[in-house]
Amino acid sequence: MPVRDDLRALEGYHSPQVTVDVRLNTNESPVPPPAAWRDAFAAELSRVQWHRYPDRAATQLREGIAAMHGVRPDQVFAANGSNEVLQTLLLTYAGPGRTVATFEPTYQLHGHIARLTGASVAEGERAADFSLDLDEVRRVIAQSSPIITFLCSPNNPTGLVESEADIRAVLQQVPGLLVVDEAYGQFAPWSALGLVDDDTPLVVTRTFSKTWSMAGSRLGYLVGPSWLVAELDKVVLPYHLDAAKQIAGRLALTFVDEMEERVHLIVSERERLAAAMAAMPVHVFPSGANFILFRPQTMAGRAVWQALLDRSVLIRDCSGWARLDDCLRVTVGTPEENDLFLAALAAALGTEVRP
Ligand code: PMP
Repeated sequence: MPVRDDLRALEGYHSPQVTVDVRLNTNESPVPPPAAWRDAFAAELSRVQWHRYPDRAATQLREGIAAMHGVRPDQVFAANGSNEVLQTLLLTYAGPGRTVATFEPTYQLHGHIARLTGASVAEGERAADFSLDLDEVRRVIAQSSPIITFLCSPNNPTGLVESEADIRAVLQQVPGLLVVDEAYGQFAPWSALGLVDDDTPLVVTRTFSKTWSMAGSRLGYLVGPSWLVAELDKVVLPYHLDAAKQIAGRLALTFVDEMEERVHLIVSERERLAAAMAAMPVHVFPSGANFILFRPQTMAGRAVWQALLDRSVLIRDCSGWARLDDCLRVTVGTPEENDLFLAALAAALGTEVRP
């Protein structure tokens, strides 16, 4: 059965999973949610009226997210992971005859989902150090007049945090919406959330998958103008957020202190990892996220990835991706996992771990 003509050349999104001792390839939290969250979740699950549809508007969850960010509930849209948030945005505003702009390398799903909706993607280039080049932004916007311009901060897979000045400069130029994907926002020193209001064509997306240790529950959201949220509500499938997920998210929001503790641990481990890696023959890209991109200098990236896998350490092999020759990405794990990674990396490169 032939698929749509415009989808024929499309490749799927792959992230290979292998059984290993140390899994540092998908930017998850290295620790589970707090035990008290699990108990409260189990207790509430036992009271769900499973024969009824869930609250279609996810009222309490939206109120909780809004309160956390100091916005109104009608400025919050939640969905099954931030990927579904992105998909709903693109279904609503992209589509055939429209263009979406990305600045590469960046999160592959921005362009991928845009293409699935039938939109064209204008791929701008980042500078050699992966920072945003504002002249290139101007050129891409002038040439393609995108309905949506994507930025990702911290950017996946580079780890780079966009400056507030750059986000404001891009916001001045976009003819449509600016979407700032902050899936890793809590690990960074600043957030674009403070720039959102009803008069600004800006959307910030977030997820429960990383900091909240809830990748398994698939919950993400955006904060944006209320007129935009009202449009998304028309496009998304009815009852898309099941009862269990709404409870999971609402309860998670009562564990902010525990979440912040995890963020502190990961940020300090990230700095420790980056310093130890910088003492080895690898180029380390500065990161404001829960992962680090690096390029080995004495061996091919793919060979280092394989040598780590041989030591039962799995990281992300980006070496075959466009613009990322020889690059690898490691997710920050627990202190023990990070030690195992550093030891394996040192062994692979024939060097030592310096404290
Ligand atoms: N945005 C970025 C930049 C990501 O790296 C990811 C996860 N890989 C997502 C969005 C999607 O996250 P989720 O669907 O789990 O919320």
